[in-house]
Amino acid sequence: MEEHAEHILIHGHVFKWEEKAPFVPCGVSIQGAIEYRPKTDEMRCHECGEWFSNLGSHVRVHDVSVATYKLTHGLVVRTNLTSQATRIKYRANIERQGSRERRINNLKACVKTGNRQKRVDFETRNARNKCNAQMLFTIKRFILANGRNPVIRELKDIGLHSTDLSKAFNGAKLDDIYVMASGSGEEL
Ligand SMILES: [Zn+2]
Repeated sequence: MEEHAEHILIHGHVFKWEEKAPFVPCGVSIQGAIEYRPKTDEMRCHECGEWFSNLGSHVRVHDVSVATYKLTHGLVVRTNLTSQATRIKYRANIERQGSRERRINNLKACVKTGNRQKRVDFETRNARNKCNAQMLFTIKRFILANGRNPVIRELKDIGLHSTDLSKAFNGAKLDDIYVMASGSGEEL
């Protein structure tokens, strides 16, 4: 992966990379966020690493649908892959669409990409500093500061819950997660 962007998009909001780092790598980019260049209003493709103002129409060259692309890279269905500027141009058209029609279209998109309830929402996790990489980073910081693993009560103090952790790491035991955290490559 070449040097990362200075900005990222999560749920359509622009953040500095450092605000939400570290990230879980995904394709040639990151999971649950889109690398973004505000100056040129371009988004980085997770598949090829090139930059596009209309990522949505570009991803088809990789033989994937927009829905599959979002699912693969941890983006939520409603996340827009069209540039901010292009979006303004099309907003008028979208607003002319009836709200019922819009709801049905949203529903169709959800059905296509599977059960929305069960799907892991990596964008929301990044927004809340709860992606796997961020959680490991938080644990590592505790271990380095205290010279030992946190007990359950202390996990809560640093904003983590053992059940969330276990779920995020496919049912892994806490001890194994701590080993993973100690060895995680993120610099402090
Ligand atoms: Zn691409």
